[in-house]
Amino acid sequence: MKYDIVIIGAGPGGIFSAYELAKKSKLKVAVLEEGAPLEQRHCPIDGKKIKSCINCKTCSIMNGFGGAGAFSDGKYNITNDFGGTLHEYIGREKALELMHYVDDINVTHGGDNTSMYSTAGTELKKICMQNKLTLLDASVRHLGTDINYVVLENLYNELKDRVDFYFHTPVRKIRVLKSGYRAVTDDGNFDCKNCIVSVGRSGSHWLEDVCADLDIPTSSNRVDIGARIELPAPIFAHITDELYESKIVYRTQKYEDNVRTFCMNPRGIVVNENTKGIITVNGHSFEDEAKKTENTNFALLVSKHFSEPFKDSNGYAESIARLSNMLGGGVIIQRFGDLERGRRSTQKRIDEGTVRPTLQATPGDLSLVLPKRILDGIIEMIYAIDKIAPGTANDDTLLYGVEVKFYNMGVDVDHNLETKYKGLYVIGDGSGVTHSLSHASASGVFVADRILGID
Ligand SMILES: Cc1cc2nc3c(=O)[nH]c(=O)nc-3n(C[C@H](O)[C@H](O)[C@H](O)COP(=O)(O)OP(=O)(O)OC[C@H]3O[C@@H](n4cnc5c(N)ncnc54)[C@H](O)[C@@H]3O)c2cc1C
Repeated sequence: MKYDIVIIGAGPGGIFSAYELAKKSKLKVAVLEEGAPLEQRHCPIDGKKIKSCINCKTCSIMNGFGGAGAFSDGKYNITNDFGGTLHEYIGREKALELMHYVDDINVTHGGDNTSMYSTAGTELKKICMQNKLTLLDASVRHLGTDINYVVLENLYNELKDRVDFYFHTPVRKIRVLKSGYRAVTDDGNFDCKNCIVSVGRSGSHWLEDVCADLDIPTSSNRVDIGARIELPAPIFAHITDELYESKIVYRTQKYEDNVRTFCMNPRGIVVNENTKGIITVNGHSFEDEAKKTENTNFALLVSKHFSEPFKDSNGYAESIARLSNMLGGGVIIQRFGDLERGRRSTQKRIDEGTVRPTLQATPGDLSLVLPKRILDGIIEMIYAIDKIAPGTANDDTLLYGVEVKFYNMGVDVDHNLETKYKGLYVIGDGSGVTHSLSHASASGVFVADRILGID
């Protein structure tokens, strides 16, 4: 099969490349996706009959139309301060312009009634500074898991007649041809002049092989590890009502490590996340008032940067997550008071607490799982946040572990996000350049425009 452009992966990066190409050209575009169409994506874990991962052939949470973002909270952060380093490749102004462009598309495809929050002019910035905390600048569109799904549905309906989507079609190899590329699949070969690789985190191992095959340099040295915190929503309401999501950074006194808040879900739920059979924790929230809970959750993460000779930062975090799975059969939950007293939580202690967990997890002891340096950092930060949100360090505050933010290896791409092969682009989280919905989507638009020669 011959196409002008083949896009590998239908996550936000791939979708926004396809959208831009379909809107602004008549080029023949194919999207090859390992997972299922959106409406067929169902994780079998129901908490009753199926409680843990049964290792489906492709994971409905991570793979399929919408990518890893399909059932996410749909928080599109418009900022160069976090979410990726796209600005280092394409410039700060361009990166922000494209993130706003993506936001406009989301708004016109079902997100029109959602809210945009901003840190501009907030008093919280000063309060954070006075308490050794730093509030990062950002605007955030919160679509919510429900509206995020609607937006994806609308994008697909608009694209499906202009772009050829091939689902359940994992690309096995990429071959370099005389004038273009060949994506090799079990159902045949797809030849193209330009190939956009947007395989996200779930495709990172595969992409590693592709890079080794094609001799494209890569690098890998970072992972973030920590726990998800859950507490009564009123404790954080003065922050979340104004900003929805705040990225706050704390530098620990003991080790001078940076600990940061990540993925804040006001009145949301804590959920399991499955990465190739390893269960970690994450969070969601909904725009729909009926689905809101009495709790707010967010992650506290410590960044680990490794230096030579160690290269497998993701493997390090996977081993820690495996340990929690070994001890707890999945995610472990612990009251802050129990953690501070050096004892495990039991179901009785959790039940007697005032915070009702939104995720059923195994009561246990996170100090048996998380390395001391990481746990010390989390505890220090809980006390630091307690100064701006009193009640955070209450005994009944819940910690779920472990939460891991894996970073893909960095693929060597230039300022066009193009590899050393002309016309072979690597974008989104798979490139290591982005780690978020907005940056991944913006990278998709950027590369489509490069191919079309639009500035
Ligand atoms: C539970 C959860 C919640 C999140 N919440 C947020 C949030 O609120 N805000 C935010 O900014 N970010 C969030 N993220 C991160 C966000 O989803 C990602 O940053 C984003 O989806 C990256 O987009 P992408 O297109 O680069 O990759 P992905 O979304 O991972 O998409 C890659 C696609 O490529 C496919 N693929 C992989 N390998 C192959 C192959 N060989 N052949 C064919 N197809 C392949 C995969 O099946 C997948 O569908 C969340 C992530 C998770 C898991």
